[in-house]
Amino acid sequence: MQLILMGAPGAGKGTQAAKLVKKYGIPQISTGDMFRAAVKEGTELGKAAKACMDAGKLVPDEVTIGIVRQRLAKEDCQKGFILDGFPRTVEQADALEKILDELGKKITCVLNINVPSEYLIERAVGRRICKKCGSTYHVKFNPPKGDVCDNCGGELYQRADDNENTMKNRLNAYEASTRPLIDYYKKAGIYKEVDGRQEITKVTEDLINVLTSVNE
Ligand code: ADP
Ligand code: ADP
Ligand code: ZN
Repeated sequence: MQLILMGAPGAGKGTQAAKLVKKYGIPQISTGDMFRAAVKEGTELGKAAKACMDAGKLVPDEVTIGIVRQRLAKEDCQKGFILDGFPRTVEQADALEKILDELGKKITCVLNINVPSEYLIERAVGRRICKKCGSTYHVKFNPPKGDVCDNCGGELYQRADDNENTMKNRLNAYEASTRPLIDYYKKAGIYKEVDGRQEITKVTEDLINVLTSVNE
């Protein structure tokens, strides 16, 4: 299964991708996670990405397409993958089609987690992430039992870009560059959406139901 998880910043892509990884045993490919890892390592890629991320702007297409091309060529993607946060522009979507053509693969389904903008700032600002295992929490909607990660005891942190100001820019970037992909994939006949305002477990259930119907 070759899946694309779409949704505005804070819609729940990472949270749901983790559930689908468990259920289907295919890897999650998050361009945001890849950029954050590169920033931490201080690589050239990290230096190129950091200023854009801090400003809430998209990283340039050629940089982003390059890292996805390399990632999709790896062995663990042969059985399928879940793209989380890519593509985010029409140019990226066109490039993805070419990359998959070269690999002899097709997108199975584009799943959009639909959440109205008034929910998104609160979701992002309350997000906390485990430094060690990457588990995602929310101070109100999905709180950890204590001060550390339930899963591994790791320290929790808040992303530098999860503040109200940067979120406004990220939401603008979403509206201008990413929302047009909804029509793009509707035209391709592979678009599905679920109501992302619901509780986390219900959203997961809906996603799995969509995937089951697609595979029948
Ligand atoms: P994205 O990857 O789309 O930016 P995340 O999965 O990281 O989004 O979710 C953003 C924040 O919202 C996290 O703190 C997460 O725990 C929380 N969250 C995710 N899904 C829901 C939901 N259905 N209801 C309430 N909060 C949610
Ligand atoms: P969220 O979905 O919560 O916005 P991500 O972790 O997916 O968070 O993205 C964080 C940042 O990384 C984005 O604001 C952007 O700067 C950069 N980024 C991630 N994916 C892409 C992409 N496909 N194209 C361009 N920039 C990206
Ligand atoms: Zn952890």
